[in-house]
Amino acid sequence: MWDAIRELMEQFEEGIVVLDADGEIAVVNRAAREKLARREQGGGFGDCRVVRMGRARSVEVERQQLDEVASALPVVLSIRNRTKYLYISQAHEKVFGDGPESFYKNVRAFLERVHPDDYEPVREAFDSDLAGNPHQYRCQYQHASGEWRKMHVRVLPYQDPDSGDLLIASLVEDVTEVREGRKQQGERRLLGSAEFRAALGQWTEEWIGRPGSPLFAVAFIDLARFRVVNESFGYSEGDRILEEVSERIEQGLPGQALIASLGLDLFAVMVRPFEGREQAETAIRQVLLAISAPIEVGETTVRVMGRAGLAFPRNIECTADALLRDADAALQLAKQTREPLVVSNVNRAVKLQELAMLEFDLERALEQNEFFFEFQPVFDPNSGEVKLLEALVRWRHPRLGVISPTSFISLAEDTGLVLRLDMKGLERLAGQLEYWHSVEPAVADLPVSVNISGRHFPSFVMERQFHELLKKPAMKNSRIIFEITESVFVESNSRTAAALERLRAEGVAIWLDDFGEGYSSLRYLAHFPVDGIKISETFVKNCVQEEKSRVILSALLALARGLGVQMVVEGVENQRQFETLRDMGFEALQGYYLSKPLGVKEIRQLIESGVEEEKARPRSA
Ligand code: C2E
Ligand code: CA
Repeated sequence: MWDAIRELMEQFEEGIVVLDADGEIAVVNRAAREKLARREQGGGFGDCRVVRMGRARSVEVERQQLDEVASALPVVLSIRNRTKYLYISQAHEKVFGDGPESFYKNVRAFLERVHPDDYEPVREAFDSDLAGNPHQYRCQYQHASGEWRKMHVRVLPYQDPDSGDLLIASLVEDVTEVREGRKQQGERRLLGSAEFRAALGQWTEEWIGRPGSPLFAVAFIDLARFRVVNESFGYSEGDRILEEVSERIEQGLPGQALIASLGLDLFAVMVRPFEGREQAETAIRQVLLAISAPIEVGETTVRVMGRAGLAFPRNIECTADALLRDADAALQLAKQTREPLVVSNVNRAVKLQELAMLEFDLERALEQNEFFFEFQPVFDPNSGEVKLLEALVRWRHPRLGVISPTSFISLAEDTGLVLRLDMKGLERLAGQLEYWHSVEPAVADLPVSVNISGRHFPSFVMERQFHELLKKPAMKNSRIIFEITESVFVESNSRTAAALERLRAEGVAIWLDDFGEGYSSLRYLAHFPVDGIKISETFVKNCVQEEKSRVILSALLALARGLGVQMVVEGVENQRQFETLRDMGFEALQGYYLSKPLGVKEIRQLIESGVEEEKARPRSA
C-alpha cells in the first residue's frame, strides 16, 4: 500500500516529508526533495508539510500509519477495489462536507455528486480506473452544503502485493480557491461550452436571416499529447501553459472571435466575418503556428502542437449543433490523419463514416486476429548485411483491404485498445520467432524490434503481461527490442524508469524511437535506461543539401558513441541520402531505398542476398 501512496505523493505539488516515530525520514516526495536540495546545509524542512507518525500500537500497523499520514494532508485519500472502498481518509469530511458512509455503501457514490457538465468524462475516467493506468482529471463537485467546488482527482491503480488484486488509490483535492484566485488576478475568461453554444446559435440565426452576409467559421482546436506535458511539468505549470495557449489563440484571430474551453486540452473558436473559406483557413493555420512557438517552463521550453477541425455553415438549414458536429468530425479526421488542419466538407463525410466504422471495427478485428506484421530490415551500409528487423503492424480489413498503422494506432490509443493490440502483437511475434527458430535459424538470429505504445507506461497490469510473454522460450532465445517513443520519456517518472529497468533485466533492449520529433531532449538519455536511438526521418530529409542537418547528425552520432548506445537512422529514401549517411559513419540505416517492410516470405530471401550490391559498396571500394 505504501508504494501506491508514495507514488501518489510524488505527483503532489506541495513538498511532503513523513517522519517515523524516531524522527527519521520515512517518505519524501519529489517537491520536497527539490526543496531540500536547494536548501542550505542544515535547517529544517522549509515550507514542506511535515507529517510525524506515532509508534504503531495496533495490529493494523500499516493502516494506522497510513491514516496518520493521510489525515495530515488536505486531500481525500481512498483505496478501493472493483466492488468496494477499503479505506477513506479522514479529510473526506473536510473536503466533501460529510462523512464517507455513502462511499462505503456504494463504490460509485463519488459519481453521484459530479456536475452534469462533467459527468460523462468523469464516469469514463472512473470506469477506466479498472484498466490499470494512472491518470488525473478535474471536475466540478457538489459539496454537502450544495456549493459547487472544483476537484482535482489523481488516480493510481496498483497491484496489492498480498492478494494480487488490482486496487485503485486516489487523491481528491479541492482546488477551487487556487482557480478563483487566479481568475481574480486577471485570468482571461474563456466561455464555457453552454455559453459558446448559445452564442453560436445566435450567429447562425443572424447568418440565415441575412442571405449573402459574410461567412463565419467554427473550429475545434485540440492540443496533441497535452496529457504528457501536464504530467511531466505538473498541473499548475500545465494550467499556465494552457493560459498562454488560449491567449495566443485569442490574439491570433482577426475580427470578431469567441473562444471556449471545452475540456482540458480542447478549445472551440468562432470567427467572423470572412470573405471566403481560404481566408478562414489561413487564420486558423496562423493560430496553430502561434500555438506551436516555444513556451518557457522554468529553465526549459515546451512546444505544444495543435490540430484543428474547421467547419462553415453549409446551407440555410444549418444549425449550431450541426456546425459543432462538423467541426468535431473534421478534428477527429485531423487527429487520425495527423494533418494539422482538416476542413469539413461533404465529400469527407464518407471517409469519416469509414473512420467511425474503423473504431467500431477495431475491437472486432482484435477478436478475429485481423492484424499481422511486416518486417522492415535495418542494414549495415558498409557490408550490406541485415542487422535487425523492425516489426510493423498491418490490419487486413475484410472490406477496406490492408490498412496502415498510421490510420489506426492513434485511434487505438485514444480508445485504449492499443494495449490489447500490442499485447496480441507480442504474442504473434512469439509465435513467429518460434517458427523461425525451428525453420529459419538465420532469421531467428537477428534482433527483432517491436513498437510499443507509450500508453503502457507506467502500468503494473501491462508490465505483468509483458513479463509473462517474455518468459516464452521463443522470446527468451531471441534478442527483443522495444521501440518506445519519446512521450514515455517525457513523463520522467521514477516508476517508468524502474519499469524499463525491469524489462531490461528480462533481456529486452529499450530503444528511443522517432528521436527528433516532438519533445526531443537529450535530458532523457541521462535519466533513462536506453540501449539505442532511432533518428527520425526529419533529419534525413535535408542531410544532402543542408550542412546544418549534417552537423546535427554528426553530433548525434558522436553522442551515441559516447553513451555506448546503438543508433539507427530511419527514412533513407534515395542513394544520395544513403551515401551521405554511410560516409558520415552511421552503421545502421533503414528506409524505402534499402527495403520496404516485407512479408515473412520475402524476409528469408533477403537475409541470404543482403541488399543489392550497388547500394552497399564498402566505403573503401
Ligand atoms: P515508426 O516506428 O516511425 O515506423 C517507421 C514507419 O516509417 C513505418 O510506417 C515504415 O513503413 C515507414 N518507413 C520506412 N522506411 C521509410 C522511408 O524511407 N520513407 C518514409 N517516408 N517512411 C518509411 P508504418 O509501418 O506505416 O508505421 C507507422 C507507425 O505506426 C510506426 O512508426 C509506429 O510508430 C506505429 N506502429 C507500427 N506498428 C506498431 C505496433 O505494433 N504497435 C504500436 N503501438 N505502434 C506501431
Ligand atoms: Ca519504430
